[in-house]
Amino acid sequence: MTAIHKLRQFVGEIAELVDSNAAEHALLHYGKDALRQLIRVDDWLPEAYARPSPERYQQFLLYADARQRFSVVSFVWGPGQQTPIHDHTVWGLIGVLRGAELAAPYARRDDGSLHPTGDEVRLEAGDVEAVSPAIGDIHRVRNAYDDRTSISIHVYGANIGGVRRSTYSPDGVPKPFISGYSNQTLPNLWDLSKELLRP
Ligand code: FE
Repeated sequence: MTAIHKLRQFVGEIAELVDSNAAEHALLHYGKDALRQLIRVDDWLPEAYARPSPERYQQFLLYADARQRFSVVSFVWGPGQQTPIHDHTVWGLIGVLRGAELAAPYARRDDGSLHPTGDEVRLEAGDVEAVSPAIGDIHRVRNAYDDRTSISIHVYGANIGGVRRSTYSPDGVPKPFISGYSNQTLPNLWDLSKELLRP
């Protein structure tokens, strides 16, 4: 049995933050704290949302706010898998639950071309990172390992799988992108019976 109540508590905390209409920097600050707490112990993500595919990295929707103000996703990276260069257009938080990942940040010049804005950042289990149009929104992410699965938990300021955004070729040419999700069913966070009946 997984400690799914941790995910329920987390989505409650993010809902409260979003309800508070906090400025983005405050939302990211407190959201990072909540995400750090969620990924501190790897005992709550149900197996079905932690399974890699040999085809491509998986994006499992774990929770979507009823008003699509935020969503929580598990990214499951098979060995060596990576994203294209892409943007988000909304705020996002990334926390590594298992393994490690490498994120390469980019920015666009006025002429539309892309340039790296720093070295690839290595995120280990327990580390959290943020993206947004205000602080840097374009990156490429990959599994740091060639021989095992890595998993990160992401929170975004929208129903991210339905957001019109872009991937980019290395020379900066954008391509319309709507990521969708890899799953058809969501984890059930709401059955309290076992917790309530626990002696
Ligand atoms: Fe991303």
